[in-house]
Amino acid sequence: MIKGWTGKRLRIDLSLQKAWTEDIILEDLRQWFGGRGLNASFFSQHFQTPISPSSPDNPIAFAVGPLTGTLAPSSGWTSIASFSPLSDFPVYGFTRMPGHFGASLKAAGFDQCILQGKADRPVYLWIDGGEVKFEKADHLWGKETTETTVAVQEEKGDRSIEVLCIGPAGEGQIPFANVIHRLSWTGDRLGLGYLFGVKQLKAIAIRGKKPVTLQDPKQFLNLCLTLKDQIQKRQKMVRVKEEGALSLLAGDERKGTRSSNQWVSGSEKQWATSLWANLSGWESCFSCPVHCGRNIQHQEKCLGGIHLEKAWYLGPQIGVYNGEWTLRLHRFCQAQGLDPFLTASLLGRIMEGVETGTLSEEDLRHTEDVEDQGEKAFALLRRMINGGKKEFHLSAPPLSENGAPRAKSVDPYPTPMWGDIPATRWRIPPQPEAVEYCSRDEDLDILADIVSFCMIVVNRLNLMTVSNIIDLINGATGHALTIEDLQETISNIRQMESRLQNKKLHWNDQSTLLHLGKGQISQILRKEEGRNVSISNRTAS
Ligand code: SF4
Repeated sequence: MIKGWTGKRLRIDLSLQKAWTEDIILEDLRQWFGGRGLNASFFSQHFQTPISPSSPDNPIAFAVGPLTGTLAPSSGWTSIASFSPLSDFPVYGFTRMPGHFGASLKAAGFDQCILQGKADRPVYLWIDGGEVKFEKADHLWGKETTETTVAVQEEKGDRSIEVLCIGPAGEGQIPFANVIHRLSWTGDRLGLGYLFGVKQLKAIAIRGKKPVTLQDPKQFLNLCLTLKDQIQKRQKMVRVKEEGALSLLAGDERKGTRSSNQWVSGSEKQWATSLWANLSGWESCFSCPVHCGRNIQHQEKCLGGIHLEKAWYLGPQIGVYNGEWTLRLHRFCQAQGLDPFLTASLLGRIMEGVETGTLSEEDLRHTEDVEDQGEKAFALLRRMINGGKKEFHLSAPPLSENGAPRAKSVDPYPTPMWGDIPATRWRIPPQPEAVEYCSRDEDLDILADIVSFCMIVVNRLNLMTVSNIIDLINGATGHALTIEDLQETISNIRQMESRLQNKKLHWNDQSTLLHLGKGQISQILRKEEGRNVSISNRTAS
């Protein structure tokens, strides 16, 4: 019997309104672990060339890892992949979504779920354990995400089910629309809202009750408890709890230096003060002791969750220093189902266009007299979404001296390019063909993604070591991993994704991670192996 994994893939065809289950063999699970690896493997096997994101055949793949749904700390993320609409040509894209959806998928009995086809009218999927139903969603079409979530939960008579849904932005097939669950957790930077909208899929509601079967429950539980305890004692966690992932943004991105919670610039301090006044309580992904999400309490109403790095992008990053306007922008994105990062990126470009005079008078109508940047951003955002298809007419994005787009926002996130094209067809410029991958960070991200761990915990904060992950996998699945196994998997995933994205990998001396046996992962692991003689001693350092 397979332990840790379920060994099952759920296949759903929306055109035929059929669902069936496939086995995933143990060999594949041990090769790809889960998450990003399983998804890249599925796409590699089924697609020699990319297909149009709007094609019914374009799959949306959700996958989790062997630790998902267990007590392993911060193991609640879900990997999602598809051919994305955020480019001028079809491109394989993937993202990771924090929250609780992945744990529910696993508890329903699946390591992976592949959606294909296109419904002929709006539907939502109801996955209740192993049973799948295609429910009519005409009455939900047009509803905001909050209303949709509550309506589906009430229909099913269970407020605890997970509802991953789109809002009007996804229905309108806006490429930078996203999906949201629990009024908080989103799958960003892939155009998932668009992809759901094209398939006329309003939501996926899911309920699962199967516990994960573990190889060595006692050892596994002890390790989980030790890790949770150690994570909670770490100083870094205090700041992450207060500021969320905002605390991880580099100083130049935040345009100011500050120690924990010390806002040095007057306008930023003002922004933070008004924003923080509306925060209440914390929220967390499945089985995470960090609780980096915050809730918004505004005029005595709870408005769902907020992740403060997104607030930053919808705030000072685009010149909005009034926290109330940031909240309104965030709330608008949340209700409409818009990707806050990409929305901020577009708004950044627009605000820059306002400053540099590259927006036409027509584009600026009704905002000329608005002094507050937040109010102006909000008016522009409403026009982008509601105001018809040809609202803005920039002929080309402003360029910096070296020719790169000069948007204020959101590096390293992709910056949508826009020109004389409808609002529903804004695109991110194609990525360069050849890309060098050579950072330890990226390999640790892949490692986090294949076991559905939080990359913030694993990579940005190093609250968990690679050895910890190996031990957890071993305790859950009985699979005795080696350094070479991990290296090979990571390297192969890179290659599969590069092929799918039509990118070339640069194999040079700097790219040490690409050479089996020479990568930094191996160095890190060897260092850890040397330091830690027994499993019980290998805990977060
Ligand atoms: S650190 Fe934050 S994002 Fe990461 S798993 Fe925990 S609650 Fe989720």
